[in-house]
Amino acid sequence: MSAQLPESKHFQIEPLAEGVYGAIASEQGHAICNAGIVDIGDRAIIFDTFISPRAAKDLLKAAKQLTSYKALFVVNSHCHNDHIRGNQVFSPDVDIISTTWTRKAITQNEPKEIQWEKENIPQGVIDAQSKLAAEKDSKRRRELAGLIVYYRAIIESHLNLKTRLPNITFETPKLVVHGTRRTVELLSFAGHTASDLVLYVPEEKIAFMSDLLFINIHPYLTDGFPERWKESLTMVEALGTQTVVPGHGPVGQTADLSAMTRYIQSLENIVANMVKSGKPLEEVSLQPVPSPFETWWLFFDNFFVTNLDSFTSAQRKELKKIRLRFRVVTRKKSGYLFSADYFF
Ligand SMILES: [Zn+2]
Repeated sequence: MSAQLPESKHFQIEPLAEGVYGAIASEQGHAICNAGIVDIGDRAIIFDTFISPRAAKDLLKAAKQLTSYKALFVVNSHCHNDHIRGNQVFSPDVDIISTTWTRKAITQNEPKEIQWEKENIPQGVIDAQSKLAAEKDSKRRRELAGLIVYYRAIIESHLNLKTRLPNITFETPKLVVHGTRRTVELLSFAGHTASDLVLYVPEEKIAFMSDLLFINIHPYLTDGFPERWKESLTMVEALGTQTVVPGHGPVGQTADLSAMTRYIQSLENIVANMVKSGKPLEEVSLQPVPSPFETWWLFFDNFFVTNLDSFTSAQRKELKKIRLRFRVVTRKKSGYLFSADYFF
């Protein structure tokens, strides 16, 4: 079977069940995120479209080869550039589905983001190259090489870039698509962003998780909502999911859902302990990566520190509220001294 699988320098096709395939981003290719191809009988579904339209062209070709391709629709799981920029390669008669929130976020963010990237990414490549030249540690070298590939994929995505928005949107928690061969569900969750779609194949218990799941790679928490993220992972697990395709990293199993939850919890604990022991939150960058996650790849950039930072800013906001509350108390009860100011 594997001899007949379509090949691309941007991704590897991984068969998960008859008619269900993961398109797993290769380290040197310009896909950057993983995608999925599902044959539901009377049509094929492509889940996420990569960052580079060139990689998306290969994905379309693969879908035509792998499925009883008569018609197609495309899903955008969420608004991040690496999951949507391939949209433009699909002909206008191909529907692109997302949540209403995601369409709005793409509409608002993409012009600003593209502008920012054009101004900053070329310098980012130069900086990453000079860091790579000086770096001796093999893991860090691999991470920096990955960052350069990501930047180059962004630059490539700008060539003839035309933002194509999803044309069908929904807001309900679930959209069910009944094909002649199988039924699939688009489940609306949140956590990585304010809106994250999971494509669930109930019969085979396969979940295309997009960026609600990273496997062996530090996730990107900065646009997210940790509590909702953990809830979403629990809900996907409760479906009886057996096979998971992450947004980044290799195909995994149910246990990878709880590993993601433990990662988020672990970062929350680090910041909570810093607050408890009176350590300044600015020292967050000195925190070591907890041992279960030491081998995880720091993709794109040092997401561990930026992830911790997103917790500290939440803590700062929380502490600000507490401080304001105590100021009021202080005014009311003269002589009351609140000693938490060292947090700031
Ligand atoms: Zn994302």
